[in-house]
Formats: sequence, structure tokens, C-alpha cells
Amino acid sequence: MAKARRKEERRKRDARRGRLGPGRYDALVAELVRCVKLAFEAGATGSLFGMEGPLRHEIRSDLCLQAWGWAAADLLVRDLLSDVFNKVGAERPAWNEGQPEWVIESGTLIERTRCVNCSRPLLDGRKKFCSDLCANTHHARVTYRKEMTEERILATVSRWI
Ligand SMILES: [Zn+2]
Repeated sequence: MAKARRKEERRKRDARRGRLGPGRYDALVAELVRCVKLAFEAGATGSLFGMEGPLRHEIRSDLCLQAWGWAAADLLVRDLLSDVFNKVGAERPAWNEGQPEWVIESGTLIERTRCVNCSRPLLDGRKKFCSDLCANTHHARVTYRKEMTEERILATVSRWI
């Protein structure tokens, strides 16, 4: 079943690319690879993914103006940028590295001066939390979030709104 599903997804992906026009998909990928590399090497972006948002928005917008539906345009741009980032060898950081509580790695210039949990100044050589109480509270909160089911996530988020 998984093989059949992958085959169907590949067929849909190829149909989206084909709708763009013969050779246009590959030409777009090549051009975007050049732009992404140029922007990164010139220091205009902090990572190879630096232009992902604006590119995704602009290309999707252009496709919509050419009578593509939003969802189809978004899927094509997703495929396009995925191929671009594969070609430039960009690797996304792990989920943990994207979280605000990510621990400072050795060699990183940024150093915490405030407690992650309560924002009080860090004293006595502490690196992340001002006290064990704050550390335990923070870890309990993160564990709670990681173990959330879809229903609990929806209930929690709807309370924030
Ligand atoms: Zn604290």
C-alpha cells in the first residue's frame, strides 16, 4: 500500500511539474539554486534557507496570477524549493535546535544572561536556569507540550486566542 501511495504522489508531483511547462521546472530550479547560493555567499542571508519565505510567497503568487489554484501553486512551490535546497546541500536543523530552550553549544557566541523560565539574571555560574525550581518547572512544561495529543493541542491553543 505504501508503494502504491508513493507512486500516486509521484504521479501527482509530475503532473504539477508538467503543468508548469516542458523544461520550465528544471530551468526554475537551476535559476533558484543560483539565486540562493548568490544571496548566501554575498551575506545577504544568514542561511541557505534565508530566502525561502519570500521565494515561496512570490512564486506562489505569480502562479496564482496565472490562474493556478492556491493549493496547487503552493504544492508546486514546495516541490520546487525542496529540489533547490537539495541541490545546494542545505540541511534543516533538528526540531530541538529550533526551539527557544535550545541549549548553547560550545563555540556559539551568544550567551544567556537571563533564566529561561522566569527571566531573572543568571547568577553563580548558572547557564540556563536561576534555580532548580525553574529548571524543573520548565522541563515539566516542555514534557507536557511534547506529550500533547491533537485534542489537547487544539484545546490549549484555543485558550490562547
Ligand atoms: Zn528562574
